[in-house]
Amino acid sequence: MRRAVTVSLRDTRSEELYARAVRYLPGGVNSPVRAMRAIGRDPLFVERGKGPELIDVDGNTYIDYVCSWGPLILGHAHPVVLEAVVEAAAGGTTFGAPTAGEVHLAQEVSRRVPSVEMLRMTSSGTEAAMSALRLARAATGREKVLKFAGAYHGHVDGLLAQAGSGLATASLPSSPGVPAAATANTVIVPWNDVDALVRATEEHELAAIIAEPYPANMGLVPPCEGFLELLRERASASGALLVFDEVISGFRVAPGGAQELTGVLPDLTVMGKVLGGGLPAAAFGGSRALMEQLAPVGDVYQAGTLSGNPLAVAAGLATLAQLDEQAYLRLHATTHALADGLRDAAGSVPVQIAWTTGLLTVFFADEPVRDYAAAQRCDVERYALWCRQLLARGVYPPPSQFEAWFPSLSHDAEHVERTLEVAAAAFAEIA
Ligand SMILES: *Cc1c(COP(=O)(O)O)cnc(C)c1O
Repeated sequence: MRRAVTVSLRDTRSEELYARAVRYLPGGVNSPVRAMRAIGRDPLFVERGKGPELIDVDGNTYIDYVCSWGPLILGHAHPVVLEAVVEAAAGGTTFGAPTAGEVHLAQEVSRRVPSVEMLRMTSSGTEAAMSALRLARAATGREKVLKFAGAYHGHVDGLLAQAGSGLATASLPSSPGVPAAATANTVIVPWNDVDALVRATEEHELAAIIAEPYPANMGLVPPCEGFLELLRERASASGALLVFDEVISGFRVAPGGAQELTGVLPDLTVMGKVLGGGLPAAAFGGSRALMEQLAPVGDVYQAGTLSGNPLAVAAGLATLAQLDEQAYLRLHATTHALADGLRDAAGSVPVQIAWTTGLLTVFFADEPVRDYAAAQRCDVERYALWCRQLLARGVYPPPSQFEAWFPSLSHDAEHVERTLEVAAAAFAEIA
């Protein structure tokens, strides 16, 4: 007996692709949150992007507020970035030997980011965070690392405990497959909890305190007044290094990231996302004294076949070149307008809007969200319902309560206005 052909009878190209995807890719995706399971629908398959808009394989257009989860601060397919990448590619895609672009990019980052004198590039934020901690442990001769509940620093073994982002989205406290030994040296403290932080720094000999200075992987939960200053003080007093994971906040909340915005300077900084302008690039950096402990000057080993890749470096340089003071004022104004408008649009639906330049979260909560526990108390069912309504009307929000919106410089007043109309209709639908 011959089997009936069913695949070709599916309604849309997205559905057909998804049916094939789940046969060859776990969950049909290469990174979990893309699957949209948390909002109870199937993923959309992207055909292309242009500015703030995404077009799926069925021809639907969306105003995109995911923007690849942060890298695309200029929007999709920015002509200057494309030109830089094409030009770089024509000269060869990778050499495994130094290029001028890497020097320019390192110099530009060091000019912008107050605490970074030197840096080492990697291909992903995960690698950069992992390597920064190796360096911190080597420099202090200690092993324990303090992290905050709900923070995400990539899928590094030791940092997956009570992590934000995809783990929060899937309600996973940690991941199987992580050896107990890897997390034995991780101390977890609630974000914005002064007493717990002070106690932990007195109790443990810490190599590092690692924090997202503007945590955005449990939704955006800004630091309370004085909390970053306290991190700096406790790290210095206890002999730990302060590591800021600015993979999201770097080059987004201000030209030099959260450390420039707040004036609190870490010992090591982890960067990524915007740094690669939409291609795979990340880095970690700090003082010369610390960074020169890395091989080949020092003996802390760290390496990467594609680190400082010429295409990624070209995209990063082209992106940073667009990010002048004016750009940040515009991004601030766009985010502000979205935040105010979404608050109004919510009507009787209880929401809390957290925002800073280039980042925003609509928490479905009755009270302001100050930590991971509060984020977890949000009405995720209602958030899911709202997201499905937004998508049906052509606005693409992060498909998880525990992620931030990433408005870009390509979102103009008209996109904001359309977004707010759609948001109001979606809120009315679920009220
Ligand atoms: C995205 C992210 C990472 C991990 O970066 P990848 O490039 O996805 O490995 C690390 N830290 C923070 C704060 C992030 O948002």
